[in-house]
Amino acid sequence: MSLIGKLIISYLIVIAVGLLILALSTAFIAPADFSRHMGNMRGASGMTMQAMMGSDMQTFESEIDTNFRQTLNNALLIAGIAATLVATALSWYISQRIVQPIRQLVKASHHIAEGHYHERLPMDQGDEFGELTRSFNRMAAALVETETMRQRLIADVSHELKTPLASIKGYMEGLQDGVIPSTPETFELVHREAERLQLLVDDLQELSRAEAAQLHLDIRPCDSTELVTLAAATLRPQFNDKGVGLETDLPTAAVSVLADVERIRQVLANLLGNALQYTDLGGKVTICLTRGGSMMQFSIQDTGIGLAVADLERIFQRFYRVDKSRARASGGSGIGLTIARHIVEAHGGRIWAESPGPGQGSTFHFTLPLA
Ligand code: ADP
Repeated sequence: MSLIGKLIISYLIVIAVGLLILALSTAFIAPADFSRHMGNMRGASGMTMQAMMGSDMQTFESEIDTNFRQTLNNALLIAGIAATLVATALSWYISQRIVQPIRQLVKASHHIAEGHYHERLPMDQGDEFGELTRSFNRMAAALVETETMRQRLIADVSHELKTPLASIKGYMEGLQDGVIPSTPETFELVHREAERLQLLVDDLQELSRAEAAQLHLDIRPCDSTELVTLAAATLRPQFNDKGVGLETDLPTAAVSVLADVERIRQVLANLLGNALQYTDLGGKVTICLTRGGSMMQFSIQDTGIGLAVADLERIFQRFYRVDKSRARASGGSGIGLTIARHIVEAHGGRIWAESPGPGQGSTFHFTLPLA
């Protein structure tokens, strides 16, 4: 039952109890009290009822009136005291029932503020307090998740920074000791590691903006075929260099989508870059556009190394790489797809991967709303 319902019922109970006590008092206490007063009156004057009625009528009426008032006042006084006691006890019980969950909530929030994120409240009430408790527990669970993510991020970032830093340190020590020759190749290797660090830091900055939903998107209608053609033209030289084919399968007429051109180009560049990286010489990458409902679907299909079912979801998690050594050798940090997912979702679209299995190629799809 809702809190308002409970409060209304409790007020009605207090009123009912008051009325019951008043009724009991007028039914049992008032008649006895009135007879007692009348008896006192007769005793004091030493007269019978007939004699009293025969006496001064005015005095008699005034005595009756006084007795009646006294009786009424006594009955009201007793009913009032009893009703006050019952109402106080009932109100105290009801307020306790209302205040107790609030106290629990205050205590639990203090605990959470002190960093005990696993604090939870019992969810046994069906009223507004129950709802408040459920939201509180949901908030606490979200805090635990955020805290876990924060800790994992720190661990991941330090791990990612460690490798290139250790490598630079190793080269520098080798150079100092004369174990490694100070040739242009050595400096080039050190420079490459420093560049990897730079790329990682840039990616991390981008990721933190994306995860904090601070991506400033300039969404406007733009031609989806033009987006694909431009992205393909930018990466074609690299495809040619590696000997991987790049094809497009686009609608003949322009189809407008709502997108931030720069950001979607970044997503396409990431997906095409990955397709190229994970496809060997002689393979092929195809980009196609299909219209479905109110969305436009972009698909990048490759004939590369493919993905296992278990990895299809995980590759969108930050720092996740199926083959760490292969990805690291090419400078991959496992952040690209996470950023792509944030960008696509910020556009109101969806991104996912499909693959028949390892060695059988994969297809990455993402959708954008039609303009
Ligand atoms: P990275 O910078 O390591 O490529 P991404 O976030 O772009 O990071 O990709 C995460 C991982 O997903 C990659 O390390 C790789 O294992 C896998 N992956 C991405 N694209 C493909 C693809 N086209 N074919 C097979 N595996 C892929």
